[in-house]
Amino acid sequence: MKNKFREIPKIDKIAQDPIFEGLNQKLILKIAKEKIEALREALRSGTIEKIDQSELLEAVKKSYHDLFSPSLKQLINATGVILHTNMGRSLISETLIERAKPILCNYSNLEYDLEHGCRGERYEHVSRHMINLLGVEDVLVVNNNASAVFLILNTFAKGKEVIVSRGELVEIGGSFRIPEVMSQSGAILREVGATNKTKLSDYDKALSDNSVMIMKVHKSNFSIEGFSEETPYEEIQNLAQTHHLLDYYDLGSGYIPTLPYHLGQKEHSLPQILKSKPSLISFSGDKLFGSVQAGIIAGKKELISELKKNQLLRMLRVDKITLALLEETIKSYLKEEFEDIPTLDMLFTEVQTLKERALKVQEDIGITRCDVIDSTTVMGGGTLPNREFPTVALHIKGKAEVLEKEFRNHHIIGRIENDKFLLDFRSILPRIDAILTQKIKAILTIK
Ligand SMILES: *Cc1c(COP(=O)(O)O)cnc(C)c1O
Repeated sequence: MKNKFREIPKIDKIAQDPIFEGLNQKLILKIAKEKIEALREALRSGTIEKIDQSELLEAVKKSYHDLFSPSLKQLINATGVILHTNMGRSLISETLIERAKPILCNYSNLEYDLEHGCRGERYEHVSRHMINLLGVEDVLVVNNNASAVFLILNTFAKGKEVIVSRGELVEIGGSFRIPEVMSQSGAILREVGATNKTKLSDYDKALSDNSVMIMKVHKSNFSIEGFSEETPYEEIQNLAQTHHLLDYYDLGSGYIPTLPYHLGQKEHSLPQILKSKPSLISFSGDKLFGSVQAGIIAGKKELISELKKNQLLRMLRVDKITLALLEETIKSYLKEEFEDIPTLDMLFTEVQTLKERALKVQEDIGITRCDVIDSTTVMGGGTLPNREFPTVALHIKGKAEVLEKEFRNHHIIGRIENDKFLLDFRSILPRIDAILTQKIKAILTIK
């Protein structure tokens, strides 16, 4: 019985094995110690009879390399969904990264007042440009739009009533539930209307001495069709003003340029919404706005300065990486260089251009293996619910489920439509086309 324990190799000796040459000794020792401990336990309990030394060495080496394999991996998004929540939502262009780089890799005046040589304000950099872009009194940027909602409610509505339409008490992907966020923030939710209909008179009847705010929430990826009615934001605003209450619109996804394919038909753009000068609005930085993860709050100056006084802001504050990239995005907006904002660039790409790119890839792969088809896609990211728009895809011939898995193993995520495996060009970056072609050839073993 005791003999088998004698076979356990000495840790120091293992670590010196030539197969670990060039690897960090400290880490090898640590891993070897853990593995041997596990083997000792297995011997004791009788799950194994003896130790295989070369197996042990290989196992240590594998664990070592596993430690360094990146967890975040680059993917080719061929689903056609531009704002894919599971694949990083909006992308930042290499141009913007280059422009922001000096700020990210050097010291900066992030919180330093160059003029007076004293402490400055981190939020001023971005808000100056954003005020310009949106034409609002003031702007504040926080970690994401969920934080924006929380900060606004906590600052103005703690212990007070906020009136919201029942039809807008939505859950947004990733279990962000408006009613729960409201209660966590300390605000008291006063639901009005029915799920499919909320009229101005419903809001009016709900007013009480404890009301402070009327809030409107974009329904995100949920839409009510048919017999339904929503009160226009301007009417809510008028009602709020008449009663000296705040009006707040959680837009979810704010966008600036007029959207193609009539996608903006049931949605209002930021310029349209801001025309009536709402007290406060908030939206995500990485939905249709096409920048980094951030929550952008815009509105009346005195309200924004109240938000800045809330201690919570310290917890929700954004890093210089966010601020630098957001600033560069805004500059591209101001110069109308939309090609530097990938989300917009992909959305605005003409069907004809997508078709030409797909045909080029098809030509390289061969018509016996694939064909080019017209299809439709959606924007994703909880924006533009149920709104489809045209796209072009490469149909890879063969068993869809098998192909889907095979391509996924090669980090190409496509989609299956009518039992066909498709690579949708709407969400494939043009600079990826050549790499994609090579990868498809390798997967289909085309010489
Ligand atoms: C997406 C969304 C949020 C959450 O925004 P994040 O930036 O993901 O935190 C909040 N409200 C609405 C209406 C949304 O669509």
